[in-house]
Amino acid sequence: MSTSRTPDGRLQVDAGPTSRRDRRALAKAGRRKPSGPSVRQLVTEPVAIVVDGLPAVTEVPVIPADASPALAEGLRRRRVAAALGRCPCGAQRPAPTAVQAAAAEQGTAHMPIPHEADCPAHDDLLGPELAAWQNAK
Ligand SMILES: [Zn+2]
Repeated sequence: MSTSRTPDGRLQVDAGPTSRRDRRALAKAGRRKPSGPSVRQLVTEPVAIVVDGLPAVTEVPVIPADASPALAEGLRRRRVAAALGRCPCGAQRPAPTAVQAAAAEQGTAHMPIPHEADCPAHDDLLGPELAAWQNAK
């Protein structure tokens, strides 16, 4: 997840993936043009939240209509965790570190939520589901 200040002073948080691999997958899906006609984009939408007492904005994934049940649940939990700061698996958004707070002042800070290993939103489970959806015809 990352945070930054919006022009009106609100903190912006990207609640996205927690691993480098998943960040790449989501970046490829949602933040770049597809590298080929077979790679589909995952759309995100902004949601207003509060982080450490400060108003913020986070980007949450939109669940594709044709998502597999596992992908849909993983993305649903990412949305819940981003919006509420906690996931049904028990994971909570940690308070921003000094480094994250400083990064948020400058632009966008990555603020991962540490999902349990068996949570559908965990990188190890969501990543392969996302990759399969991206590459489906
Ligand atoms: Zn979770």
